[in-house]
Amino acid sequence: MRNKIVAGNWKMNTTVKEGVKLAKEVEALVAKVNNAAKVIVCTPFTHLTEVAKVINKVALGAENCASETSGAYTGEVSASMVVSTGAKYVILGHSERRAYYNETDEILNKKVKLALANNLLPIFCIGETLDQREAEKHFEVVKTQLEKGVFDLSAADFSKLVIAYEPVWAIGTGRTANGQQIEEIHTFLRDVIAEKYGKTVAEECSILYGGSCNAANAKEIFSTPNVDGGLIGGASLKADSFLAIVEAV
Ligand code: PEP
Repeated sequence: MRNKIVAGNWKMNTTVKEGVKLAKEVEALVAKVNNAAKVIVCTPFTHLTEVAKVINKVALGAENCASETSGAYTGEVSASMVVSTGAKYVILGHSERRAYYNETDEILNKKVKLALANNLLPIFCIGETLDQREAEKHFEVVKTQLEKGVFDLSAADFSKLVIAYEPVWAIGTGRTANGQQIEEIHTFLRDVIAEKYGKTVAEECSILYGGSCNAANAKEIFSTPNVDGGLIGGASLKADSFLAIVEAV
């Protein structure tokens, strides 16, 4: 049985003090919920060590890591540094990093491999822009992102990934993909993974939806076939709205 997962992506929000407070609140609420879902908070690098101290049931993730191992890369944070904070996960391929920091499929492929080599589990994001959706290229786009980003991994390594489908036009816009759009892409993704790695690997892969998921729409989104939880941006910044999403999974 594949894992149900709800992961929060805090992005560039909260000070360390605010982040620790939020993490404590999330931990306290999640500890009370009788729910088999795995809950992850992905925080800015600066927060990881402090947040690690106040969570137990909730797992910790980073929002990025470097594409190089170590050395003269001023300002970068390596996968081994991230792991040394206590983080277990890292978001890679988020559309904001692809768009604003020119992270190509090739760079992301290097990051994924470095993360895995350091026992850091990637939450690998894929998704089409509005132009690509309107041109009906969304299936092709997400397939190419998988092929170029992660399909040269062994089946054993691929099995460690969490995939997050995030239509770029739904991120932070208040606009969610509808049930049919989500179902057809998630089913397509599982089929593409099955073609590459076989049915068992595909059936065990957690595929999350992300894009304006909130307390009000989470139940409906999570009841869509082939959706195994969510990657949550804005709604993960308040413990009670994040908890409502966790309860919906
Ligand atoms: C995200 O950034 O991964 C995301 C899904 O954001 P939001 O929930 O705010 O749309």
